[in-house]
Amino acid sequence: MARDRSIGAPREYRPQTNLVRGGLARSAFDETSEALYLTSGYVYKTPEEAEAAFKGENAHFVYSRYANPTVAMFEERLRLLEGAEVCRATASGMATVFASIMCQVKAGDRVVASRALFGSCQYIVAEVLPRYGVQTELVDGRDQDAWKTALADGATCVFVESPSNPTLEIIDLPALAKLTRAAGARLIVDNVFATPLQQQPLALGADIVVYSATKHIDGQGRTLGGAILSSRSFHDEYLQAFLRHTGPALSPFNAWVLLKGLETLELRVSRHSANAAELAQFLEGQAGIRQVLYPGLASHPQADLARRQMSGSGSIVAIELEGGKAQAFRVLKALELIDISNNLGDAKSLVTHPATTTHQRLTPEDRAALGITDGLIRLSVGLEDVEDLKEDLARAIKES
Ligand SMILES: *Cc1c(COP(=O)(O)O)cnc(C)c1O
Repeated sequence: MARDRSIGAPREYRPQTNLVRGGLARSAFDETSEALYLTSGYVYKTPEEAEAAFKGENAHFVYSRYANPTVAMFEERLRLLEGAEVCRATASGMATVFASIMCQVKAGDRVVASRALFGSCQYIVAEVLPRYGVQTELVDGRDQDAWKTALADGATCVFVESPSNPTLEIIDLPALAKLTRAAGARLIVDNVFATPLQQQPLALGADIVVYSATKHIDGQGRTLGGAILSSRSFHDEYLQAFLRHTGPALSPFNAWVLLKGLETLELRVSRHSANAAELAQFLEGQAGIRQVLYPGLASHPQADLARRQMSGSGSIVAIELEGGKAQAFRVLKALELIDISNNLGDAKSLVTHPATTTHQRLTPEDRAALGITDGLIRLSVGLEDVEDLKEDLARAIKES
């Protein structure tokens, strides 16, 4: 019998094969590329079929706020890559961060997070949760004693980013997973900077992984998107109902873009990080630079830890210039190829000044504690020829 070509790669294929074929569910038209189901609703042959669908007794789609065939293909492809029991997509990275925390907490609960967080994640933990009676604490993620103290009284969940934005701090995930479990809490890891290819938080002991798919998964500056990966029991008990009834659903069109993004993710991420590693090394030798932060550099304060838990060093390089904000702005203005933008993980190399953009909301004291100085610029290294990137940066720094 000819094999069934309508269904994507089963689990036993290698990651790269799953990225190209995982989750593919062909329609009766036998299309090569994944179909785009731009539909909000679904019809039933009989009222009995509708009744069974609402009871979850058949696999019939109900409504695209709950699930959609194109979104489901994206979820399944990413789930296979991550090796998670469940993957759920959302409309943005922030929707995943919010849902992953909010679906499991109630007034009186406690959430502990690392203080080196993406600006909007910091806002949710420090500003939104306390308004609903959830106690939150931010700690220095590199400090094991700080975690022990913060988790001594238990918690509902722990939220971290590693490597962090923008100073690329690394958190010892296996150690934190142990402490989190002992505290009766769940560990949520925002794995955007490492990507699913260079760090597998679930294998390192995390309970939940979240992504902004806007970043490397799309990687070409087109759509917003997010994803949450977890156990089946966490999904069924907390996440599913929260997503269904609060509505952060990913649009099928954006899911389709992200699904195609996954096909080239490995090729792009390896080029991104090869370019970033070469640029970081190159910049370390340039005059006018106080420090280059990149997990793959021997000079990174946590280079050993990064090597232990990551299989690559990512696409983000932070550079501290000697001349503060004035020099940082001069460098940004002198760049001809690299664009000024706060996005990251894009095919195009992008640069931002975190102190006046992504981390502007923080107090000067909080920025200082995180190492976000006025001379710090964050570079998202793209897919251009690395020699052109070197020339652009070297010239801009020299002119500054
Ligand atoms: C961009 C980003 C987010 C938010 O994702 P959006 O898709 O922009 O909503 C969350 N965490 C990290 C680490 C990010 O870089």
